[in-house]
Amino acid sequence: LDPNPEQLSTTDKDLERVLRPQAFEDFTGQDKILENLRIFVKAARQRGEALDHVLLHGPPGLGKTTLSHIIANEMGVGIKITSGPVLDKPGDLAGLLTNLEEGDILFIDEIHRLSPLVEEYLYSAMEDYKIDIMLESGPNARSVQISLNPFTLVGATTRSGLLTAPLRARFGINSRLEYYDAKLLTTIVLRSSSILNTPITDEGAYEIARRSRGTPRIANALLRRTRDFAQVKGNGSIDPEIAKYALNALNVDEHGLDEMDNKILLTIIEKFKGGPVGLKTIATAVGEDDGTIEDVYEPFLIQEGYLMRTSRGREATELAYKHLNKLHSGGRNA
Ligand code: ADP
Repeated sequence: LDPNPEQLSTTDKDLERVLRPQAFEDFTGQDKILENLRIFVKAARQRGEALDHVLLHGPPGLGKTTLSHIIANEMGVGIKITSGPVLDKPGDLAGLLTNLEEGDILFIDEIHRLSPLVEEYLYSAMEDYKIDIMLESGPNARSVQISLNPFTLVGATTRSGLLTAPLRARFGINSRLEYYDAKLLTTIVLRSSSILNTPITDEGAYEIARRSRGTPRIANALLRRTRDFAQVKGNGSIDPEIAKYALNALNVDEHGLDEMDNKILLTIIEKFKGGPVGLKTIATAVGEDDGTIEDVYEPFLIQEGYLMRTSRGREATELAYKHLNKLHSGGRNA
């Protein structure tokens, strides 16, 4: 149930593709972002120009890849997909860029992980649609400048803080995706069930939704697993009872927190008397990168009221103590 796509099996990846919304109107939530994108896309189409470069940031599984496909569909252009760590050398990027047709989208996932050399190479491509290419090597080496077709770079990142200022400045459209509330996720679960031909009640969908950590990818993954339970242990359709049964069997937290969420809270409560404690100290104690905690875990814990950010550090809230069955008295266990 990791929100990371690399951890999904092949069938799950296929299913994820099937469930992926293809047009603005299939995409649930993120209303402000969509409202703006619709206008930018329409305006670019009217002018017959490529859409301005788009930066999408936010935690994994909230729809960044999905949105980039939708933008391509709505613009009526092609899309090429790559990621920061894959683009090793400027040459790799040059190959992709020179193969783009007019108006195409180049989607770079994890754009914060581009090497500085590749990143710098990207600047002139983004700004002037021009790149320098090295011809031959050794004493005969020379570079020529070539023009690219106008294109749109869509960059996605979970760690916006790691983006360099020059790169960030080259994106005309900059959007931050938010976690989804249970109501929106219920809509997404209902839509996915109908695509998967799985009968489900509204209450059954809500039970899955509220335990999905605000994340559509997790909601879809839990739906698929619950469907298995409904098929084998029930009559094939999903109601709240079979959903509860399945989610408990899968060890899914009652409120959708994942293992690392709970580990962070437990560490603050047990090792640091509930805080306040600094981010770096928490990171060392739980064995996770401090930036990842700040960008991926903390926003959800704060939004749901389990964690507070104060000037002196992070503090576990009353709700966190209750959630973990701990007594709120100087860190003594219940
Ligand atoms: P990210 O790129 O941010 O990690 P993805 O775009 O890959 O996330 O989304 C993960 C899955 O969640 C997709 O397969 C898609 O089906 C689903 N999904 C994401 N956002 C939405 C949404 N707003 N409405 C419906 N499904 C969504």
